[in-house]
Amino acid sequence: MTKPTTTNTGIPVESDNESLTAGAQGPILLHDHYLIEKLAHFNRERVPERIVHAKGSGAYGELVVTNDVSRYTKAKLFQPGARTESLARFSTVAGEQGSPDTWRDPRGFAVKFYTEDGNYDLVGNNTPIFFIKDPIKFPDFIRSQKRLPGNGLRDHNMQWDFWTLRPESAHQVTWLMGDRGIPKTYRHMNGYGSHTYQWINAAGQRFWVKYHFKTDQGIEFLTQADADRIAGEDADYHRKDLWEAIERGDFPSWTVYVQVMPVAEAEGYRFNPFDLTKVWSHKDYPLIEVGKWTLNRNPANYFVDIEQAAFEPSNVVPGIGFSPDKMLLGRVFAYADAHRYRIGTNYAQLPPNQARAAEVNSYSKEGAMRYHYNDPNVPVYAPNSFGGPHADPERAPDGGIWDFDPTIVRAGYIQHAEDGDFTQAGTLVREVLDEAQRERLVNNIVGHVLGGVREPVLSRVFEYWKNVDTDLGKRVEEGVRAGLESSKG
Ligand code: NDP
Repeated sequence: MTKPTTTNTGIPVESDNESLTAGAQGPILLHDHYLIEKLAHFNRERVPERIVHAKGSGAYGELVVTNDVSRYTKAKLFQPGARTESLARFSTVAGEQGSPDTWRDPRGFAVKFYTEDGNYDLVGNNTPIFFIKDPIKFPDFIRSQKRLPGNGLRDHNMQWDFWTLRPESAHQVTWLMGDRGIPKTYRHMNGYGSHTYQWINAAGQRFWVKYHFKTDQGIEFLTQADADRIAGEDADYHRKDLWEAIERGDFPSWTVYVQVMPVAEAEGYRFNPFDLTKVWSHKDYPLIEVGKWTLNRNPANYFVDIEQAAFEPSNVVPGIGFSPDKMLLGRVFAYADAHRYRIGTNYAQLPPNQARAAEVNSYSKEGAMRYHYNDPNVPVYAPNSFGGPHADPERAPDGGIWDFDPTIVRAGYIQHAEDGDFTQAGTLVREVLDEAQRERLVNNIVGHVLGGVREPVLSRVFEYWKNVDTDLGKRVEEGVRAGLESSKG
């Protein structure tokens, strides 16, 4: 027996065929709840498409580390023999959802690793470089590659106008117009982290690194003529190829390498190592093998696993960090913000984005579509006196820091001669308030504290006010103790 169709709340429905009407030829009635739910949900089936990289394909897989790079990074996912579940999303950049896979365009190469220290995302491309080197130019760049506002058409003149006015694009445009501008399939292209990142080893030493994922299928590309033909025949050519290869067990793989630059060499290197429009020559910094990355599982549901996948360069784990690459730093903000807009505040709870191997102990709460919640006995704020999670610099990535001038630090205010948390509060109590105002202050505090403050917080309250003013603190304590006594009686 087939299962009954139900509403979204599990109630069996009367009909899949006829809407409720007033008479056989009469108007449709608003209280046909199933009909209304069906139409209303349909209207809301799409989330906004990504502003870039809208058309994509993806799959799950794993990284297996085959070499020992522990002298460069303590990141657990890169330790010898480590095996980490992963999600990939490949995409074109300028095209919309449904646009042909074979248009000439760079390809997104976004990788998520579900590590035991939290999710690590490497959001790269199939090119080791990019068109621009400062995020302030990014919205202009993308607008110039998209569509004219008036007629909604793409416009080569606009594209070349931008490129030629921004000559830093030359390296990337050379790639784009060359053979590798249209990969044969997603399986036959390399991936690059593109940005310069930091690796930090167990001794705290820092290195600059660039990631290279070299396809084990061999580099293959499409000629312009073939790509144009395929665009007409099968707009989803690359999506289909990836899906079918994985379905038949022909799992695509990439060998993962890094280039490693000692920090001391960065300043004198012949190219600025943080400029996203430049590579580090392999002759200067040869590729060092890390491991094998394989895609072996198709998504169970395209929308859930791939459309809702949220990759963000801000996700770095201990042993990995950022660099002075301005494009990277701009993306560290922009990606998470795009997900908040596109799929909602709680996007990290969605299946492809959930931390798998790590515990999530965030103080984030509520917001639209929230369904994970923390232990109700754990406070919703920090710091707290009730055993809630607290920041632990020993375990956190320190990847937002590097040694340059000015030095990046997390530091409190520099204390001046008369600074101190209690100094000016004490002056206010002793030198500004008169006795009647002090009396009201004490009464207000006592009344508030008697509203439910318990040990050990209570003792800290007395200490706090004695630090502001000894006499005031004593009066608060006396008032509270008297109030507690009388409430017992
Ligand atoms: P190398 O001779 O050491 O490397 C040349 C690189 O060019 C190889 O990685 C090769 O990839 C790649 N390549 C071959 N054909 C094309 C093509 N049609 N389009 C794009 N790349 C191609 O030189 P350098 O490291 O000194 O770099 C020289 C130039 O090579 C750079 O300016 C850059 O454009 C390009 N390049 C450099 C990379 C780097 O990270 N250093 C990475 C990729 C390209 P493969 O071996 O896979 O065939």
